[in-house]
Amino acid sequence: MKTLAFIHRNDTHFAVGDFAHVLSVFSHYELGNTISPFLLLDHIGPEQLQPMSQRKGVSDHPHRGFETVTIVYKGEIEHKDSKGSGGIIGAGDVQWMTAAAGIVHQEVFSKAFRERGGAFEMIQLWVNLPARDKLSAPGYQSLTSDQIPTIELPNGIGSVRVIAGQFNGQSGPAKTHTRINILDVKMRSGQSATFNAEAGDTALVYLVSGRLQFDKTEKMEDAGLAVMSSNESDFSVETLGDSHFLILSGEPINEPIFGRGPFIMNSYEEILQAFEDSKNGELG
Ligand code: MN
Repeated sequence: MKTLAFIHRNDTHFAVGDFAHVLSVFSHYELGNTISPFLLLDHIGPEQLQPMSQRKGVSDHPHRGFETVTIVYKGEIEHKDSKGSGGIIGAGDVQWMTAAAGIVHQEVFSKAFRERGGAFEMIQLWVNLPARDKLSAPGYQSLTSDQIPTIELPNGIGSVRVIAGQFNGQSGPAKTHTRINILDVKMRSGQSATFNAEAGDTALVYLVSGRLQFDKTEKMEDAGLAVMSSNESDFSVETLGDSHFLILSGEPINEPIFGRGPFIMNSYEEILQAFEDSKNGELG
């Protein structure tokens, strides 16, 4: 079994556009290829928002070289991009956007949510693309909650939503460029479950809420990221409180990471090219 390698934690919240409470859980700037193929995870909220009279969110901005995965837990986001894709992402839904060669998009509160206000919480995860796919055609997958299978764990201890990859023989709806599992797990206190991963795979556990324990002694509070060892296969998670966590695992992409702001490529030259192309309006 894989064991806990280390716990990574950031406690600083900052603002992104009009999203006022964003926790940068991890990024490639800090952890590089240790967490490959994952690049960055932001946890927005949970917070109570008042009704808004104006359109709010993050206005038009570009991306190149990777994919953004938006998981909405509470509230509603509206997406629009330069390829003509868009839609409403509500509670339980996931949006998987492949920026690849380039896209310009905006992420704002939906009109209905803006008018009523209320609880808001979402995760945005960035997933790297292998060099061969970084300049391929952009794509968009809308994964609504009814398309995401929920698997009940034995003895009523919890449930697992399979967003991407596999769990206990059930497949998630996301089409991915490399082998990835993204599982959204809820488990009652005092239970444990084993998750599959191959030897050599990256395996991460992000604790959205609750309290976990690894290897019978290592405790982790909410907003912590557990990075499991590469060696051995599979790993187990024990709950010390009712817990909600994300499992991110998969095959690492062992290629250089060169990222600046909204672009993640393999070299400095490719980043300069991305800024140049963006300036010339070639990403949208
Ligand atoms: Mn974006």
